[in-house]
Amino acid sequence: MDKIVPAQYQPPLPLDTLIVQDGAEGSGDRMELDVLIVGAGPAGLACAIELARLAKADRTELNIGVLEKAEALGEHSLSGAVVNPRAFRELFPDLKDSDFPFRAPVAKEAVYLLTAERRWRLPTPPTMHNRGYYIASLCEVVRWLGAKAEALGVNVFTGFPAAQLLVRDAAVAGVRTAPAGLDRDGKPTPGGTAPNDLVAKVTALAEGTRGLLAQAWCQWQRVPSENPQIFALGVKELWETQQPLDRVIHTLGWPIPSDAFGGSFVYPLEPNLVALGLVVGLDYRDAALDVHVLLQRLKQHRLLRALLAGGEMVEWGAKTIPEGGFYSLPERRSGAGVVLLGDAAGFVDVPSLKGIHYAMHSGIYAARAIFQNLKNGAALSAYDRLVDASYIARDLYRTRNMRLAFRDGFYLGGIQAALMTLTGGRFPNGKYRMHADVEVARRLSPGLRPGSAETPVGVSKVDAVFKSGNSTRDTIPSHLIPAKDVPVEVARFYSHVCPAGVYEAIDGGLRINAPNCVDCKATDVLGPRWTPREGGSGPKYKRM
Ligand SMILES: Cc1cc2nc3c(=O)[nH]c(=O)nc-3n(C[C@H](O)[C@H](O)[C@H](O)COP(=O)(O)OP(=O)(O)OC[C@H]3O[C@@H](n4cnc5c(N)ncnc54)[C@H](O)[C@@H]3O)c2cc1C
Ligand code: SF4
Repeated sequence: MDKIVPAQYQPPLPLDTLIVQDGAEGSGDRMELDVLIVGAGPAGLACAIELARLAKADRTELNIGVLEKAEALGEHSLSGAVVNPRAFRELFPDLKDSDFPFRAPVAKEAVYLLTAERRWRLPTPPTMHNRGYYIASLCEVVRWLGAKAEALGVNVFTGFPAAQLLVRDAAVAGVRTAPAGLDRDGKPTPGGTAPNDLVAKVTALAEGTRGLLAQAWCQWQRVPSENPQIFALGVKELWETQQPLDRVIHTLGWPIPSDAFGGSFVYPLEPNLVALGLVVGLDYRDAALDVHVLLQRLKQHRLLRALLAGGEMVEWGAKTIPEGGFYSLPERRSGAGVVLLGDAAGFVDVPSLKGIHYAMHSGIYAARAIFQNLKNGAALSAYDRLVDASYIARDLYRTRNMRLAFRDGFYLGGIQAALMTLTGGRFPNGKYRMHADVEVARRLSPGLRPGSAETPVGVSKVDAVFKSGNSTRDTIPSHLIPAKDVPVEVARFYSHVCPAGVYEAIDGGLRINAPNCVDCKATDVLGPRWTPREGGSGPKYKRM
């Protein structure tokens, strides 16, 4: 075997278990709501806040529920993050920027091109200007938004993963949650709880990147997009440093191979508290590429070595990012009884590495459409029209081919991206076609290993998972679905893809250490399917 096409080993999405008729056997309690929001990220919480405010202003009673799989708000939230405050200002017109849960304004910024030994300062590309924006921890943002939602009467249910879509004919009726307390074989234990059904007039899917129910709905309702969605994996560390940092830094180039797309970010939350991460597109070509290991290597560059010397890594985490942009948006993000928000719909602008304000604004627009739907029966497709007429669609259209140009490699992609910037997105005329990441062939080349799991520097994957706060019960059944009979080369590929060391290549195939999973969804993109597990499992991020 000299190459792997991951699609050949990926099981299909289990639609028959993900889409269930409302009233089907197997649930414990049933709760009825007006609006159910799946996912307490910026998208879901902004939607809940705007809806509750509209209802209050109209003196209407609305029963709004938000389901979140993390045990507490923010524990599954991970971002960079430099935040464009635009959506905060719209959602909280009475507050000042200084009232928002941001750590610091962006004072200075620098972009570098790296080789193994050297660095060159580049002029900051227009898409990467961050003046006027704020550095923040998404965990803190989410906790703050959650408190605002609860103060407005929204019910936030943490520790409840939505596992199945409940449907009536072609309409979404709500969700069924994952059971808790199963043993390793999937059998209920005495202290366990059965799944619950939550039904609502409208269900908003705000599950974030690679949303399982959003994927299932698009496939079930045959909602296409012009290009398939593509993803990047971001691995992030939080460092308490001895040396202060006074600027936002982005780097391109080393240690990412030139046939892959990506870069790093270094953001000071405080002068001596630095968020550091590496993001790499999952359409890379080398089966041995390992993003976690590349981040460890990046820290050896003298640009970062000096900053981190004497410091301590206090938190670690990983998450994917939907990178396809404009042409990967589902043709519609609304249907009977349902809307798709934020990352679950793909509202991310990769050239600027921004998604938080788009996610929040999509939530605000969805709330307005949902409110009119409940009040006078207006179609939920009003949400699509609001987004299409907004700066979300305009921004994503302007950079529509920029990420896609990098499928031809870093240098050719860089030249094309520069031309796209100069022409305001008009170059090239038309659309770049992309393959889904899972369709991209990976070469097995033992001599050329840009980051293999054995690299003996930095933090091991085992220590990294510990620093994510992951304390998943060891005895839960595996929530990951691999293909049958995975060849050892493919098992090795998965072991590199997964930043949390869940997969091991062993004699005869694949060993899965499922409790280590931090829900980043990278292997859901490239290999075994991810499904929701018992509520509260996974990481416990605090300041990611
Ligand atoms: C490494 C990295 C760096 C980034 N940097 C920036 C940046 O600097 N600036 C910026 O603006 N954006 C940045 N982004 C993008 C930004 O974080 C996202 O666009 C944004 O968080 C999307 O918000 P969301 O609410 O759609 O999804 P999320 O923030 O992912 O929230 C989704 C929530 O849904 C929950 N959930 C998922 N499935 C279920 C389920 N089945 N049941 C119940 N709950 C569920 C999750 O636990 C999560 O809490 C970055 C992303 C990454 C990964
Ligand atoms: S197994 Fe979990 S942690 Fe590993 S890549 Fe897949 S989703 Fe991420």
